[in-house]
Amino acid sequence: MMEEDDFEADSLLYRNFQQLVHLKCPACWASISVMVDLSVQAQTYIEDCEVCCRPMEISYQAAEGRLMQFEARALEQ
Ligand SMILES: [Zn+2]
Repeated sequence: MMEEDDFEADSLLYRNFQQLVHLKCPACWASISVMVDLSVQAQTYIEDCEVCCRPMEISYQAAEGRLMQFEARALEQ
């Protein structure tokens, strides 16, 4: 458990691990956004574009609740 006094800012940060990332779809170049979970250090998963519905591979790294690296690439079908 975190100490209440010292970690006020951090606990606020850690409570909100979801971050909206804006990107361009690698397939149709529409501006889209995806929600990433920053409580995971690194993750790669498949997400469908909300505009063209084509799958893309999202991979990102997070450290201490901050997004360090983010990449989206089109998948061959
Ligand atoms: Zn698209």
